[in-house]
Amino acid sequence: MADFQQIQTELLARVGESTEPRSVLRAPELRELYSGIRDANDKAAYGAQVNELKAQLEAAISARESQLAEVDLEPIDVTAPMDTNAPVPSLLPTEQGTIHPLSRETARIIDIFARMGFVAEQSREIDDQYHMFETLNFPKGHPARDDYDTFMTVETDADGEPLIAPAHTSTMQNRVLKKYHDKLEAGEAIAAIVPDRVFRNEDLDARHEHTFYQLEGVYVAKGVHAGMLIATLQEFLQAYYGQDLDVRVNPFYFPFTEPSFEFALSCPFCKGQDSNCKVCSGEGWVELLGCGMIHPNVLKAADIDPSVYTGFAFGCGIDRLIMMKHQIEDIRHLESAKLDFLEQF
Ligand SMILES: [Zn+2]
Repeated sequence: MADFQQIQTELLARVGESTEPRSVLRAPELRELYSGIRDANDKAAYGAQVNELKAQLEAAISARESQLAEVDLEPIDVTAPMDTNAPVPSLLPTEQGTIHPLSRETARIIDIFARMGFVAEQSREIDDQYHMFETLNFPKGHPARDDYDTFMTVETDADGEPLIAPAHTSTMQNRVLKKYHDKLEAGEAIAAIVPDRVFRNEDLDARHEHTFYQLEGVYVAKGVHAGMLIATLQEFLQAYYGQDLDVRVNPFYFPFTEPSFEFALSCPFCKGQDSNCKVCSGEGWVELLGCGMIHPNVLKAADIDPSVYTGFAFGCGIDRLIMMKHQIEDIRHLESAKLDFLEQF
């Protein structure tokens, strides 16, 4: 057995140099000293000696740890007189944090729809192709599936199809219709919005982001018609932009609505009076939404009888609504975390 004195000196020296002094307690030499108790002639005296060493090590470790903790700390003299010329900390509003424009505007949108009787639901960040396409009347092989530039994952669902990052909030439509199905039987309407994040494999520019926010809306009841769709959207947009606005509806195509429309709004900035208007390029109209009457196949996929109930659905980019409201020229600012941009809100 190694000399006790020698081991003691060696271990204490190691504590003094180590950046992890507590690890010395696991040193094999120390274990060897412990197991030596068994064979010692005078077990009591030997045991006391080992315990004494352990106590010394503990004290040395505590001292070393305090020493390590003090490194890099500037000592503060709490008795020093106050510097009366130092700037006073300010709590002016500009120096406090502000709510991100995306969060703030989304809360406003939810609030306007809540007052019209719509509930808000969350979307998800990974979904299956059944909800993204199948339930929305895009059968397998439907060419419009390719229009979405969808991000696919390497993980697959039960059918062996790649899971996806949803490219639109309509991925929630079937779930929302099923969740509130009971309302129809009770003679009420299904009225829900889904304001949430979507993902597309886009080439990025001032008008395109790979990650952005969409507002989905569905309304289903007995006797719902296109006039109610137009009135609801007009009501929402007038509340959001705080002024009376004209709307224009053009025929369009989506697999999940029939008929489908592209919904345009009279330019809230120039009302068509400024040929140099940056928002509408002088046309007086801004295309803002896609919408239409929910396709009977979409209702059937949610166990709703299309001969009894009808409904409308709409979708638009939340970023787009905000950009128009605040005349933001580049969609990428919204996710940029640039303080000089965010501090304006
Ligand atoms: Zn304009």
